[in-house]
Amino acid sequence: MRAFLRALSLPLVPVAILAGGFALIIYGAALPRSLAGFTIYSPHILFALGMALAVGYGRARAVLALVILATAYASRQWWLQEGLDGLHARAVYAALTVFLPLDLALLSVLPERGLLNRHGALRFGVFLAQIAFTAWVIVAGRADLVDLAYQKLLDPIPVSAGRLPQSAIVAIVLSFAVAAVAAFVRRSHLNASFAGAIAAFAIALHVPNAYITFASFIAAAELMVAIAVLQDTFRMAFRDELTGIPSRRALNEQLAALGNRYTIAMLDVDHFKKFNDSYGHDLGDQVLKMVAAHIARVGGGGKAFRYGGEEFTVLFPGKDAEDAIPHLEAVREDIESYRMALRASDRPAQTRRTKRQKGGWRGKRGVSVTVSIGVAETNGRSGTPQAVIEAADRALYRAKEKGRNRLSR
Ligand code: GH3
Ligand code: MG
Ligand code: MG
Repeated sequence: MRAFLRALSLPLVPVAILAGGFALIIYGAALPRSLAGFTIYSPHILFALGMALAVGYGRARAVLALVILATAYASRQWWLQEGLDGLHARAVYAALTVFLPLDLALLSVLPERGLLNRHGALRFGVFLAQIAFTAWVIVAGRADLVDLAYQKLLDPIPVSAGRLPQSAIVAIVLSFAVAAVAAFVRRSHLNASFAGAIAAFAIALHVPNAYITFASFIAAAELMVAIAVLQDTFRMAFRDELTGIPSRRALNEQLAALGNRYTIAMLDVDHFKKFNDSYGHDLGDQVLKMVAAHIARVGGGGKAFRYGGEEFTVLFPGKDAEDAIPHLEAVREDIESYRMALRASDRPAQTRRTKRQKGGWRGKRGVSVTVSIGVAETNGRSGTPQAVIEAADRALYRAKEKGRNRLSR
């Protein structure tokens, strides 16, 4: 449920910006003229803002997306002011409307790899090649290729698309879907902003000769990318990269904001060092992800954090230990009974050693781990969260002493 709500936050900013864009179109006529002027310059201003953030935080994919959007705006200004007739304008329009969405979709599936290296050069090269190709089509007078882009696939088409080539409609719909799915799969605001930018671009194109609309929606797209850079950076600071759950930094902030009644649990994976030694660090990482996912689903209003390494913290604001313990026991049992499948690639070399291992890591269908849990609550006098964490740590130590895979308080 919480994961679902978090996923919903991905499209929030792009949707809000698009809504703002529509409000401007509808009510924009009532604005003072000076603001209308701002609309025309807004793509430049937001390009500069976005670039400052994207370069500052080293987000190469955002840099490229902004360059692509700015190029679209410039092309519109230079080549399409006089309408969409003639080889020139038709070629530029087709190139814009087909390449831009496909490029953003491509960027949303590629990993972040930096700008000033061969990956950045290759990606930038693909973009330049598209410009070069379009220029060649125009210079060589290849009307046949342009006609190809405008080829009717369906006649009549079910949506009104103005002068948009049908190949562009296909590119836009497909690219939007790819970027949107990539946003949810990778939990990336930047990918969500690419989907939003494709939507904004499609809206901008819908009114081919309305200059202000085009400028506003390119600016909207740039604003989405700029904000997404900030959102992803924020996420990096407060979420643990491996497990995706909140990090130690997030825990520290929550601790500072607690009331005077709460319970803290410390969880630690049992014999994890040996697990790593037997199965390798990669499978160890997989197990940490699995354990974190189980802990994050804890009930009773508990909030899960990765404390560090194979240690996790669950915070129960406003709850005493009595309330929290059943939920923690449920998590412990879930983890104990979970069997993680072994891929073939995890097996070689270790099989000999694991046979000698005592304890039941390797069940019929895969490997399993257990966790030990220490619980402490506030007790009126000793009030600081740090003291409660230390008490939970001591309880954890007792759980380990008593034989692990259990909870102590
Ligand atoms: P105990 O039951 O007493 O907790 O034994 P343990 O081996 O789990 O305890 P210890 O704290 O000595 O070992 C923790 C190990 O966790 C050390 C390290 O190999 C492993 N570890 C810590 N962070 C990571 C990580 O991010 N990925 C992986 N794969 N292993 C990690
Ligand atoms: Mg430990
Ligand atoms: Mg451990």
